Amino acid sequence: MESTLTARDRVGVQDFVLLENYTSEAAFIENLRRRFGENLIYTYIGSVLVSVNPNKDLEIYSKAHMERYRGVSFYEISPHIYAVSDNTYRAMRTERRDQCILISGESGAGKTEASKKILQYYATTCPVADRMSTLRDCLLQSNPVLEAFGNAKTLHNDNSSRFGKYMDVQFDFRGAPIGGHILNYLLEKSRVVHQNHGERNFHIFYQLLEGGEQDLLSKLGLERNAQKYQYLVKVCVCACVLMSCSSQGCCPRVSSINDKNDWRTVRKALTVIGFHEDEVEDLLNIIASVLHLGNTQFGEGKNGENQITTEPQLKYLSKMISPLSFEQAVAARDALAKAVYGRAFTWLVVKINQSLAFKDDVYNSSKGSSSVIGLLDIYGFEVFQHNSFEQFCINYCNEKLQQLFIELTLKSEQEEYEAEGITWEPVKYFDNKIICDLVEEKHKGLISILDEECLRPGEPSDISFLEKLEDTLGGHAHFVTHKLANAKTRKAVSREEFKLIHYAGEVNYSVNGFLDKNKDLLYRNLKEFDMSPLCFPLFDEALVRHQVKYLGLMENLRVRRAGFAYRRHYETFLQRYKSLCPGTWPNWQGRLADGVATLVQHLGYKPEEYKLGKTKIFIRFPKTLFSTEDSLEAR
Ligand code: ADP
Ligand code: MG
Repeated sequence: MESTLTARDRVGVQDFVLLENYTSEAAFIENLRRRFGENLIYTYIGSVLVSVNPNKDLEIYSKAHMERYRGVSFYEISPHIYAVSDNTYRAMRTERRDQCILISGESGAGKTEASKKILQYYATTCPVADRMSTLRDCLLQSNPVLEAFGNAKTLHNDNSSRFGKYMDVQFDFRGAPIGGHILNYLLEKSRVVHQNHGERNFHIFYQLLEGGEQDLLSKLGLERNAQKYQYLVKVCVCACVLMSCSSQGCCPRVSSINDKNDWRTVRKALTVIGFHEDEVEDLLNIIASVLHLGNTQFGEGKNGENQITTEPQLKYLSKMISPLSFEQAVAARDALAKAVYGRAFTWLVVKINQSLAFKDDVYNSSKGSSSVIGLLDIYGFEVFQHNSFEQFCINYCNEKLQQLFIELTLKSEQEEYEAEGITWEPVKYFDNKIICDLVEEKHKGLISILDEECLRPGEPSDISFLEKLEDTLGGHAHFVTHKLANAKTRKAVSREEFKLIHYAGEVNYSVNGFLDKNKDLLYRNLKEFDMSPLCFPLFDEALVRHQVKYLGLMENLRVRRAGFAYRRHYETFLQRYKSLCPGTWPNWQGRLADGVATLVQHLGYKPEEYKLGKTKIFIRFPKTLFSTEDSLEAR
């Protein structure tokens, strides 16, 4: 026993439900830290996988690793993204039900890498349907293309996705991938015209300028020099000047990014996906036109109105030579650039979807019997110094996901206990329905009030919206404003803010811009970040604690632990632990359940501490370390 205790001390527990002090956040974080120190970046909370970004390549994603996780039960082997991939795949096949893997976390947490690893797992391990091998390439090649147009360097992540993604992979009755579909949302279009200090525009601009052939650049009227383009390097008269820097993004070149090589990868990928040469040309024309737009200058006309003074851009902007002020002209130009880029991105996704679409005529033997696995790569709770409409939308989405998650966890627990013939004891948990209702209820929810205020005749404003909220929601326990009693809350609320007490914590939202942003559907695609200039040190405790809190991990663990923390099939359990008891070693001859009972009694478990189901043993809290990885499972 001593050696296993030492192992636990060293590597922690591989499933948080086995953590003795499971209500303590400090113990939770300590467990993550210990495992991280041993390069064990994955830990379960039941069937939830918690991952800490190692920010370095670990040798745990080889084909051999994929093989190791194929067909193996969740708890049998060290936690891994491949275990989640494989279990989801098997659940889809055996239950013949669609499945979804939800990936959540802050920017830079490793969400997109995780979704790529899942796709690679399916592309490598699943059977290939007849004449469908190209689909696999399309699935994999869609990533570099989407990343070129939708990712950018930010302060948090050199390859940060600036859009949300939901991807479906469709499988036939034999479990072979036969189609896919991507849904994109919330592209951060504002990045096209402005980037924070130390950040870049979307990768494709730099890739084209660095890697594009000279002929191509000439045709597009471009020079091979990012410094020439205002949207890539704009002179700004701000604090940057003091830092001896005269640009907006300020960093066309980044050591971790090779734009020239990436250009080649993207060009090849576009061909694999099935873009015709003229389509690629159209796409690059649009990219070039955005750069030209950015270089458009305005000068005063005869009557004081602003006119375009730069030649090549005239054809794009002739309609804008109306009597606009300088600021209005610049804003109109930037709005056009964002809209053009946004539409190009949407078109790109449509084209990718055409190439991924399940083609009935080519392959129809699986008609009607396919299932899908969905992958959702979404921002987690966002709490900045300044939060507005965008954070409100994202946080509401996370609130709903939490509700769904708790419901599904409890439901699946209940179903399992019933299937095993074990009496279900209702679990008390924090039901966040009250907050979801506060936001979404018809007529009296926050969104309804916002919509009504947008449509109201007269002069609705952000402040009149705030007043309506106060009138309608004033008495709600999860809603606070400056006017309302501050007793409910610890952190002050300004006169232009309302505070929501989310399940994960309190967030102040500024109402400034709520009406405009809600009215302007285009604006829903806009998302601005207030990034603090922090980089990730390899284990950042403050960052980890923040995410443990806002991803609701402690609450998840509590719900898991309310029932039986540990369960295993009799056969697996006996096979693995029979050596711990003379009565079951070397072989147990009788009924499996009796053998398991003999074993656990020998280990000192009292009858009220475990239950024997039809096929599995359930232990409320295992004192002994029943896990494989800790008994020196090879990594
Ligand atoms: P997110 O999508 O959550 O913003 P990413 O998935 O883009 O974050 O990850 C950010 C960066 O962190 C990646 O570019 C990569 O360098 C690193 N990273 C993420 N996950 C892993 C991993 N499992 N192993 C090694 N590095 C990783
Ligand atoms: Mg991402």
